[in-house]
Amino acid sequence: MENNFSYASRKSFIDGTKNSDYDVAVIGGGIVGAGIINLLSQIGIRAILLEKNDFAAGTSSGSSKLIHGGLRYLAQMHIKLTRDLLRERNFLLRYDFLVKPVNFRILVDDYSWNRFELSLGLFMYNVLGGHFKIPHMVKNHGEFDKSIRGYFDYLDAMTDDTTLVMHNIMSAVMKGGICINHAEVVGLRDDKNVKELHVVDTIKNEPFSVRSKYIINAAGPWVNEVSVALNLKKDEKFLLSRGTHIVIKQFDKPITNAIVFRSHIDGRQMFVIPREEVIIIGTTDVFVKSPEDTVAPEEEIDYIVKSVARIYPSISRGSVLSTYWGIRPLYGAGSDPGKVSRDFKLAMINNIIEILGGKITDYGKVARKVAKIILKDMGKSASLRGKPEILYKRDFSFDNYDMHIMKECAMTEEDLMRRAGIEIYHPWLRETAKKEIKEALARNHLS
Ligand SMILES: Cc1cc2nc3c(=O)[nH]c(=O)nc-3n(C[C@H](O)[C@H](O)[C@H](O)COP(=O)(O)OP(=O)(O)OC[C@H]3O[C@@H](n4cnc5c(N)ncnc54)[C@H](O)[C@@H]3O)c2cc1C
Repeated sequence: MENNFSYASRKSFIDGTKNSDYDVAVIGGGIVGAGIINLLSQIGIRAILLEKNDFAAGTSSGSSKLIHGGLRYLAQMHIKLTRDLLRERNFLLRYDFLVKPVNFRILVDDYSWNRFELSLGLFMYNVLGGHFKIPHMVKNHGEFDKSIRGYFDYLDAMTDDTTLVMHNIMSAVMKGGICINHAEVVGLRDDKNVKELHVVDTIKNEPFSVRSKYIINAAGPWVNEVSVALNLKKDEKFLLSRGTHIVIKQFDKPITNAIVFRSHIDGRQMFVIPREEVIIIGTTDVFVKSPEDTVAPEEEIDYIVKSVARIYPSISRGSVLSTYWGIRPLYGAGSDPGKVSRDFKLAMINNIIEILGGKITDYGKVARKVAKIILKDMGKSASLRGKPEILYKRDFSFDNYDMHIMKECAMTEEDLMRRAGIEIYHPWLRETAKKEIKEALARNHLS
């Protein structure tokens, strides 16, 4: 099993496409595409993944990084969605080097659900997650502003989304999956027997093509753009919403638990999540027109700061060390992005499967559904239980840039900044990291 994936492997993967016919070509190397190629490679299907930027460069590095059932979805009566997400959470918790349990503290005040709703909701959440635990409210004894009456504790989980994607990509490569980053799909020649994707290696600006029987459009918020490149129609029920997070160092009263509260400005549920040496706070939920609409306006940052300052008055605009955002791919309708379902939908037309919506948490379920459709169509069978498995385990530290390059095929400065999580977890290392990354790229002949 190959577990070194370098730029040399990438070159041989691109060269190999000339003489290969694949069963499945996956477009998009976010968590959904990565989970799919990982699973397909584990059941012996010849699959290739093409990612126009870097793996996890899209929404799958801009999430809140929670592996959760979503209390909010339960409150919206999406009971099956919550149960399914909690099953996936429980499954993923077995990979303790990637997914960690977190204690959440949900605050009770004039803006929250009331005490009765919260204890009933959390009881159901616990039961759906497989625990018969009766929740109790703990009174605020001065840990929070006096407007907070108390809190309930519950357990959920978190991950690092970029790292989770990379572990799926690497697990796929170990099983013979072909994964190519910086490879943009720009068109399709569709014959009766085979589909030929036109692809551009954006590092060398050279075209190549990929022949495959099935195509999976896992382009997240770019799903409609990719459909157009594949000569299909845009889906009008597909919506995009931007979510912004801020990163701060600590509050004046340091916290170790994650906090959930509702903004006094618009009632939106917000998370305060301690991660390594920082605290991540978010998020917003604002409809946008384009998947490239990623620059968070100042008012979104102000909104987050003002919302959290009600709970922790020491925070101000000057506390913000960095910001990050992602664009949610959503399937549904309505004028309030917070009310559009977070479930996913699959559609298959002429051997092209399109994936609309979904969460990080249920990527495994999406992958199993896609695999079922393909296995059935190919007249094959395979056990999907407990899959996709994570077979790879990273054995180097976040700032070992040479290892990111030589073992996991990082190609550019941006790839390394993202994969090392500099802007999110270590923003004060920004300038040092850029310098060290430039040196590492030069050492590896990538600059
Ligand atoms: C603010 C925010 C918070 C969130 N929080 C959570 C959370 O806490 N927990 C949770 O479970 N979910 C969360 N989500 C949802 C989750 O992040 C997304 O549903 C998930 O990351 C989508 O993954 P994806 O693979 O579909 O899309 P992406 O990660 O965007 O991947 C799609 C990929 O396709 C590539 N691509 C596009 N066009 C082409 C092309 N022509 N050729 C080749 N490649 C192409 C893109 O470069 C991109 O990398 C959150 C989302 C947001 C925005």
